[in-house]
Amino acid sequence: MTAIVGLTLDGTEWTPQFVKALDAKKCIGCGRCYRVCARDVFELVERESLDLDDEDEDLDDDDPFGDDDDDDDGFSDDTSMVMSLKNNGDCIGCEACSKICPKGCFSHTTKEAA
Ligand code: SF4
Ligand code: SF4
Repeated sequence: MTAIVGLTLDGTEWTPQFVKALDAKKCIGCGRCYRVCARDVFELVERESLDLDDEDEDLDDDDPFGDDDDDDDGFSDDTSMVMSLKNNGDCIGCEACSKICPKGCFSHTTKEAA
């Protein structure tokens, strides 16, 4: 079995890396992945609803982009929220979410051809 591949506009093959998991314990709820994803994969949910056993109680200090609540970058700094995978079956494997995520929350996988 081999992994399915796609083609770029010029016919070059590439291997989609589908989102497999999102580590909610690392997530700071910034919303960057949601903004860049062209598919209906993500949903922002209350951190409490996931029953996470957070080791890091001070996520507000963890954003390497240096955002604060008063800036106008359009990204949330509300760490009471966390991103979740609502529908990863809709993922096309572009990896934009991983490239933009400041916390390395994502893991990806290829898909075997049928
Ligand atoms: S790999 Fe692309 S399509 Fe899949 S969840 Fe990430 S941004 Fe969305
Ligand atoms: S980009 Fe990363 S840290 Fe920000 S909401 Fe998405 S998964 Fe969480």
